[in-house]
Amino acid sequence: MYNANENYLKLPGSYLFSTIAKKVAAYTEANPNEQVIRLGIGDVTQPLTKPVIDALHAAVDEMGTAANFHGYAPDLGYSFLREKIAAQDFAARGCKIDADEIFVSDGAKSDSANIQELFDENTKIAVCDPVYPVYVDSNVMAGRTGSYDPETGYWSNVIYMPCTAENGFVAELPKEVPGLIYLCFPNNPTGAAITKPELQKWVDYANENECVIIYDAAYEAYISEEDVPHSIYECDGARTCAIEIRSFSKNAGFTGLRLGYTVVPKDLKKGAASLHDMWARRHGTKYNGAPYIVQKAGEACYSEEGQASIRGLVAHYMKNAAAIRDGLRDMGYTVYGGTNSPYIWLKTPNNMTSWDFFDYLLENAHVVGTPGSGFGPNGEGYFRLTAFGTYENSLAALERIRNL
Ligand code: PLP
Repeated sequence: MYNANENYLKLPGSYLFSTIAKKVAAYTEANPNEQVIRLGIGDVTQPLTKPVIDALHAAVDEMGTAANFHGYAPDLGYSFLREKIAAQDFAARGCKIDADEIFVSDGAKSDSANIQELFDENTKIAVCDPVYPVYVDSNVMAGRTGSYDPETGYWSNVIYMPCTAENGFVAELPKEVPGLIYLCFPNNPTGAAITKPELQKWVDYANENECVIIYDAAYEAYISEEDVPHSIYECDGARTCAIEIRSFSKNAGFTGLRLGYTVVPKDLKKGAASLHDMWARRHGTKYNGAPYIVQKAGEACYSEEGQASIRGLVAHYMKNAAAIRDGLRDMGYTVYGGTNSPYIWLKTPNNMTSWDFFDYLLENAHVVGTPGSGFGPNGEGYFRLTAFGTYENSLAALERIRNL
């Protein structure tokens, strides 16, 4: 006899983007002549850049020769990639992160979902509201969240930190002390960024209260303002309280190629437990490493050409973001984000609910976005558009919205 992990049954409905996909599929089936513009899911649309493609081709050729064939990758990642990450993503910004504190993976989604395994079942988590759904759902699966209240949309054991227009979508420090704090900046879904003094407050709070911050910096490449830190390790004391997660998806367009990394500093210790050693043990046991050819493609992102090509991709999407942000503002919408982030977070008009606005846009403008309430109760009354479409589609979507 077996018992299923019934925590899965507690998850409300399907994952947000599956629900959206089903609604859009039903709409396009019923209206086969409508050209739907998708600015919903945060998936990139630009092709991989030349330095990355060249590196992939070269690595594929290597794999076809006995002399240069590569089998299992090292569990924690090839040093050719980890050294470059340490030097260019961290040392160049004055952050002390060693190559062997970097764990290469297949992306930020799996790392941000799996990292909770390092903490015991009684660890209380604190999340922003609205929030990237993976942080809460992965803790639900692990049985750490208590029961779900469909009235409030909250889990009984989770500490929610409202992110509202009033606080600039940057949460206040929680009154009840959690064990784990999930922060994501630049933020998905609100597009908000955090300044260094504000982030320093979180680091100080975490050190004072023995919390660990899981800092998701998947959108780091979109930071355009000076006072916004690119890494939590720019803050004093972050080595003793923070884990940082990064991705090659949004900067280099690897959503289909899959590559990311997580930094677990060796100073993160609780008694005899070193979170670094535990994460290494987990990788060694549960993961056989990101593919050699993909890590070579990742390495190519750090060459001069590679860096320039990433800047080109980011500039492309940020041009879309500016067009959507400013276009909606001109139409009278209240709009946030789109400056340090590829997400535009808008207030729905006439106090429509997020899902009503989703249906209204789909049916009347044939534009797909993401209802803010799908990210948490404080997302109700908001709507997320992504800048990851093509420029033409971003302008066309704006035009359709203008004509409503
Ligand atoms: N973290 C955040 C905040 C995201 O928005 C996303 C993707 O949308 C991810 C992580 C996933 O990144 P990856 O493609 O590296 O799994």
